[in-house]
Amino acid sequence: MATDEIHGSDEFYRLWDVSLAELVRFDQFAGRLHPDDIERVKTDINNAILLNESFNTDHRVRVSDGTWRFINTRGKCIKDEDRKSNIIVGTCIDITERKIYENEISNAKADAERANTAKSEFLSRMSHELRTPMNSILGFAQLMEMGELSATQKEDVTHILKSGKLLLGLINEVLELSKIEAGKLSISLEPVQLKIIIRETIDVIRPIATLHSVTIEQIDLDYCELFVKADHQKLKQVLLNLLSNAVKYNRKGGTVKVFCEKGSVRADQIQTIRIIVNDTGIGIAQEEIPKLFTPFQRIGSLMPEVEGTGLGLAVTIKLVEAMNGTVGVESKVGEGSTFWIELPQCEGQVDRQERLTDSTKHNIEKSGLSGTLLYIEDNQSNIELVKKILAEHRPEMLLISGTYGKNALQLALDHKPGLVLLDLNLPDMHGSEVLGLLKSNIKTMEIPVVVLSADAMSGQIKKC
Ligand code: ADP
Repeated sequence: MATDEIHGSDEFYRLWDVSLAELVRFDQFAGRLHPDDIERVKTDINNAILLNESFNTDHRVRVSDGTWRFINTRGKCIKDEDRKSNIIVGTCIDITERKIYENEISNAKADAERANTAKSEFLSRMSHELRTPMNSILGFAQLMEMGELSATQKEDVTHILKSGKLLLGLINEVLELSKIEAGKLSISLEPVQLKIIIRETIDVIRPIATLHSVTIEQIDLDYCELFVKADHQKLKQVLLNLLSNAVKYNRKGGTVKVFCEKGSVRADQIQTIRIIVNDTGIGIAQEEIPKLFTPFQRIGSLMPEVEGTGLGLAVTIKLVEAMNGTVGVESKVGEGSTFWIELPQCEGQVDRQERLTDSTKHNIEKSGLSGTLLYIEDNQSNIELVKKILAEHRPEMLLISGTYGKNALQLALDHKPGLVLLDLNLPDMHGSEVLGLLKSNIKTMEIPVVVLSADAMSGQIKKC
């Protein structure tokens, strides 16, 4: 240690709880420090000597009653040429109260974060568990709907389907929101061409719009030819939310316009593109706008009959922010609303989406409608559902099913299916292992495998 002597202000000695006589040598100074702080304080002081700067360091000091106080010591080290030594000239402040307060705040924050994560994980697990039976309920109800039914039965089934779909939507949104809050959302950013994703979204919404007598117009301006950096799936989810709201909260005979414009330029010089969804609906009062993006906030007193969860926009804003974008809204009661999102523009690549769609078409045409389907699944009701779907729509197809992963390869070798449907959570092994077995055998590696699972998380998708 290059510092030998301590010279401080009166406050320095008072806070260190020593007299000048007691604290003149650095080893005494160090001896009163908390053992965990000694090295850091020494380094701070040595650096100050080397760089000829002042130092400023927080540490604990044991005072004469044996308790520890938090002290902030700051000062300068002066070279005493005559005595060939370094002298610390410093002052101290007692920061014990502040440190205790800071610790309390940081503990409370950590507790709150832990509780929030636990809540999100619980919701995520629950929603996930609820999705599997919901799919079965909806699947069977859909089959019933296609069969011969009396008028009242048809009406009953319609009710089951409507409420079931609403519940599934709610479960999915809670799952999405809790996943985002638990920090488990995985986003994969890639160039997405606007006109394609807008067209895809409109195709999904158009039947609902027709039911509501609302017209959707995609205005193909030049900006729609451009690409934004986004997660294709998540951006589609966002646009579906905005478009379905624009239809739901519209009036009969109303219009929804979707178009793109040049957006703002970010602080980091990145140009953004704005995707705009404009409707001629009921509009939103100015004072309600700040509430829109809060979970479970439904404003719709003007249209109480419209069904919803109040989660769509809460999910929307989180997804857009996760893709480095922003969301905005302007609205006038009685005239309509304009929701927009801005996402960073990027260079386009090959038109991936069209390529994918074309190759899927090709495979379907080649495979024909008959053949053998192998389904590896341990949930009997899911097997029944697929059996019924095939009986109804592809009666010429043969269904072979197996409950255990270990039998999958042999079944595939024996029956040479044209397609394998595979569940992931099998009783004896994970579906990804079954996939590995099928893909590593020369006789089965060419068979397409479709994984059917409620566990459609991106981590799982990547693994498979
Ligand atoms: P949901 O539609 O499921 O209730 P959202 O989070 O999507 O939930 O929307 C929250 C609320 O914002 C809705 O309940 C509705 O009152 C209002 N809202 C959203 N979009 C529009 C729109 N395009 N026009 C009028 N009101 C809207």
